[in-house]
Amino acid sequence: MSGYVGRLAPSPTGALHIGNVRTFMVAWLRARACGGRILLRMEDLDHPRDKPGAAAQAIDDLRWLGFDWDAEYVQSARRPFYRAALDRLKRAGLVYPCVCSRRDVENAQSAPHAGEQLRYPGTCRGRFASWEAAAAIRPPCWRFLVQDHGTVRLEDAFAGEYMQDVAETLGDFPLARDVDGAGYTLAVVVDDAEMGVTEVVRGDDLLPATPGHILLQRALGLPTPVYCHLPLVVGPDGRRLAKRHGDTRIASYRAAGITAETIIGRIAASCGWGDGSPVRLAELLGEFSLDAMPHGIWVVDESSTERWKDDR
Ligand code: GLU
Repeated sequence: MSGYVGRLAPSPTGALHIGNVRTFMVAWLRARACGGRILLRMEDLDHPRDKPGAAAQAIDDLRWLGFDWDAEYVQSARRPFYRAALDRLKRAGLVYPCVCSRRDVENAQSAPHAGEQLRYPGTCRGRFASWEAAAAIRPPCWRFLVQDHGTVRLEDAFAGEYMQDVAETLGDFPLARDVDGAGYTLAVVVDDAEMGVTEVVRGDDLLPATPGHILLQRALGLPTPVYCHLPLVVGPDGRRLAKRHGDTRIASYRAAGITAETIIGRIAASCGWGDGSPVRLAELLGEFSLDAMPHGIWVVDESSTERWKDDR
């Protein structure tokens, strides 16, 4: 048994679709191929976007596709961990409540270029004595006070070298919209460390957030895992796969009689493994390799997956 610990981290904000599954396949194969462990962590802190029933459906879909895992966690049951981390940051003077809207941040940034990230100019630094004082104005968020100037460098297992000066690009980034710190950014950093995750496999839309995660790990004295950011599956308009691109939900393919092996085989082919014939997830263990995986996006639309029905 190796010391590798990976994780599958679905958000129950919608149904599991082929974009999520492609990332989870790589995460699962990376762990199992080296005899490591894999965890399932339900990231259900995104109220009110979380959909009732979506967590149970995602678990059912994953099992049906052939995934298994060694432990299961639900973030909404882990609030004390996030509160403890937040308290440590408070004691170190590294968090503050902020009431700025996105518009406020945009207005403070002169002539942002298209696609450029919004850098938070620190408007609320030192402004409020407490969360409650901020909350009297507008629902606040906790921001991490970025002291470190200089480049954070990471060697991503798929994307390669990535560098970012967080103070220059993001500024003081948000941690959570919750008084106890129960929000994605703080939770992902606390949980990956607390669960002993050694490698994080996820979509590369999160790559620009990762240097911030690393600064947070350093502030909390937590280890930095290996990162492996994979290209997204997108619709014909180049945007992250979503409802507007048609129905690519696993549950809908199931209902249409498409088999798990067909779905796995087609997604595997998009990663450069196999010819697209139906295959079981575990059968890919001998075949998959990150080196074969294309670095570009995978464009999918409903009509391309319509053809999957021919394999029924
Ligand atoms: N729960 C996040 C998502 O579904 C993944 C976050 C992560 O892997 O760090 O997009």
